[in-house]
Amino acid sequence: MSVPEYHGPHLGPLLPDRVELAWYKPVRRTPVVRVVAHTCDCQAITYELCAAAGHGFVRRTDREQGTVHETAWTLTAVARRTFEMILDGQAV
Ligand SMILES: [Zn+2]
Repeated sequence: MSVPEYHGPHLGPLLPDRVELAWYKPVRRTPVVRVVAHTCDCQAITYELCAAAGHGFVRRTDREQGTVHETAWTLTAVARRTFEMILDGQAV
């Protein structure tokens, strides 16, 4: 009997007027980063909404390319909005 896995949400189809986000190499500013939400692990590229030191950012992991990038660190509410836009195909 298999144990049910938690699947995060999948990304919606990319919209034609999507926002192109700026992605940066990760900077370790604080030792503790909390993952608040993440997209489904079955995809090659996963996005995580992260919180650290009172800030928020979105981390993108590409397992095929072996790369990790993150958005600029910002207000947690702004980072959550960015994460939701990615989920909805409004930002990439
Ligand atoms: Zn999945």
